[in-house]
Amino acid sequence: MNIEFLGTGGAMSIPRPLCTCKVCIEAREKGVPYSRTGPSIFLHGPDLLIDTPEDSYVQINRSTIREINGVLYSHWHPDHVMGRRVVESISADWRNHPPENDPVDVFLPEQVHNDFDRFLGSGDHFNFFKEQGYATVHKLSDDENIQMSDTTIYPFRLAESYVYGFLIENDGRNVLIIMDELNNWQPPEFMKNIDVAILPAGIFDVHPLTGEILVSPDHPVLKEEATFKETVEVIEKLGAKEVYLTHIEEVNGLSHDTLKVVEEKYAEKGIRFTFAYDTQIISI
Ligand SMILES: [Zn+2]
Ligand SMILES: [Zn+2]
Repeated sequence: MNIEFLGTGGAMSIPRPLCTCKVCIEAREKGVPYSRTGPSIFLHGPDLLIDTPEDSYVQINRSTIREINGVLYSHWHPDHVMGRRVVESISADWRNHPPENDPVDVFLPEQVHNDFDRFLGSGDHFNFFKEQGYATVHKLSDDENIQMSDTTIYPFRLAESYVYGFLIENDGRNVLIIMDELNNWQPPEFMKNIDVAILPAGIFDVHPLTGEILVSPDHPVLKEEATFKETVEVIEKLGAKEVYLTHIEEVNGLSHDTLKVVEEKYAEKGIRFTFAYDTQIISI
């Protein structure tokens, strides 16, 4: 199975519109891997798209994706759902009458389904897709999994219990994907056999090389989001064979090159991970 990182940015893409910080200027000049679009991942094989940030159209057009069999959502936050119209773009038949739409399977874990009915009009929008014949929406109860070709996907709730992580089994290999919100999460005992873990990098409250304070210590975001240091603790506890970090925020002001140096510094201490970049494809 191949996994394609469609977007490795966080709630703000890099370059952020109008921003003249060094990281955004570099990203505007050089593009990938310095630029990062919103958080989204594609599993080749089951051909499953995870989350649809507003950059979804561009991401899919530049990707190696040829077919999408399903769309799965991790949580309701805007940076993960606002490109949801892409569901219509890949399913709607606007040529024939009556239309021969090819409805996409949309998988919503229980709490995500409930939250879509409360926030941002996502529930309304998916009801519209259902009525138009663009989507078949599956509400997954918390004990349900998704079976797609030779892949099983087990959604599970994180410590921030409105957000789901995904355990994926494919051909005897175990992959863990957490799109966002690692705050307070501890890997459970049974999760000791992970081949590849994809995790959100967390907030860099201090600069990972210089120690400079990047976020005021009393900022409320530090109560809601895991810091990079806490993410490293999770990496150490998890003991996965390979780790990729994503959901890298513009506000951190860390360039692709700086993050490469951070990787080397931690590797020297025996802690291995890779910061993913947009368009990267890994083989599982
Ligand atoms: Zn996010
Ligand atoms: Zn910027």
